[in-house]
Amino acid sequence: MTRRDRLIREREHDPYKLRQKLHEPAACGDCGARYHKGRWEWTAAPAEAARVICPACQRVRDDYPAGVLTLRGEFNLRHREEVIGLVRNVEDRETRRHPQKRIMSVVEGEGEVTVKTTEAALARNLGTALHDAYDGKLDYHYTDEGGVLRVLWER
Ligand SMILES: [Zn+2]
Repeated sequence: MTRRDRLIREREHDPYKLRQKLHEPAACGDCGARYHKGRWEWTAAPAEAARVICPACQRVRDDYPAGVLTLRGEFNLRHREEVIGLVRNVEDRETRRHPQKRIMSVVEGEGEVTVKTTEAALARNLGTALHDAYDGKLDYHYTDEGGVLRVLWER
């Protein structure tokens, strides 16, 4: 385990996760994810399921990301469409398996792109996927306020 992984594991406590102690059956009224055996999944909930808001949807409502990925650099500028395409592909794959891992927003600024995620692990995985595909420089750190994981990929 690298120092970076250890850091992430230690700090990955999520105030939104406390809201998951729910009675079953339950399903999210916003996205339809079902709370089943202590986990969120994309299966149909029974009709009597209680309507709740899942942590990912709550983060979207609050605009309070768990991870923020920033993309910078000349390469990123020139290949922006392709780079964002890769980000969306990784999201697709992750969200299908893990309903709580989602991209909240992708904002294209002049010199950079900002991607907000509902789980820190997704921001980290996106950064790793970009680094694996295109090389460049990858950096992680937690901010002091709120424990948001900041990931910077630059090329
Ligand atoms: Zn939801």
